Amino acid sequence: MLYPCNLGISLYLNFSESLVENLTENINLAFDSFFYNIFVSNWSMDLKDLLLFGREEPKELNVKLKETVLIYPTDLFYKSLKKVQNLRYLLPLKLGITHLPLYSSTKKNLIFLYGEAHINHKLAVVSTYNLRDLQTNLPKDHGILEKRIVKESIHEIGHLILGNNHCINPDCVMNYSRDLGKVDDKSRFPCNSCNEKLEEIRENYNF
Ligand SMILES: [Zn+2]
Ligand SMILES: [Zn+2]
Repeated sequence: MLYPCNLGISLYLNFSESLVENLTENINLAFDSFFYNIFVSNWSMDLKDLLLFGREEPKELNVKLKETVLIYPTDLFYKSLKKVQNLRYLLPLKLGITHLPLYSSTKKNLIFLYGEAHINHKLAVVSTYNLRDLQTNLPKDHGILEKRIVKESIHEIGHLILGNNHCINPDCVMNYSRDLGKVDDKSRFPCNSCNEKLEEIRENYNF
């Protein structure tokens, strides 16, 4: 891995311009000078094409005994992202964002993830599904959903750069968020101690 580098973001399904601006601006602030460029692309194929990447089928799950939801393995997204990464070798780090609910392909009991990172392959995925407030049905405030997507995206990119560990500082973007309250309470930026680690990487790579 060589820094600085380019970052690729694949959006699965439709997202607003403001989310794209919000994401790129805040990723650049959080990881100052780590990325030459952030390339955002829309996944234009439909779900059937995405499913071609998976060995695992989506699982059917009964949620609250009323509705059945299909949840998708993270592996599906890693494979699809890997393909783009291979085609465009200028994108050593890749993040996918989807509206679909996810379960972890490696830890199958982890369901409805906010996100997951595949450190070895430098791939990460964020799901907006559970970042929406389904329980309380808050007024459809896109602002708050966007903030959550930005924080969890920065969190997963942080894993790709800093590794698997979570930060114990509850204000830090690298803190593990158990629920939406925790997501809302934390900052979208790394704390001083995480910033020191980022600074070490900058020094190692001389940028
Ligand atoms: Zn994490
Ligand atoms: Zn931290």
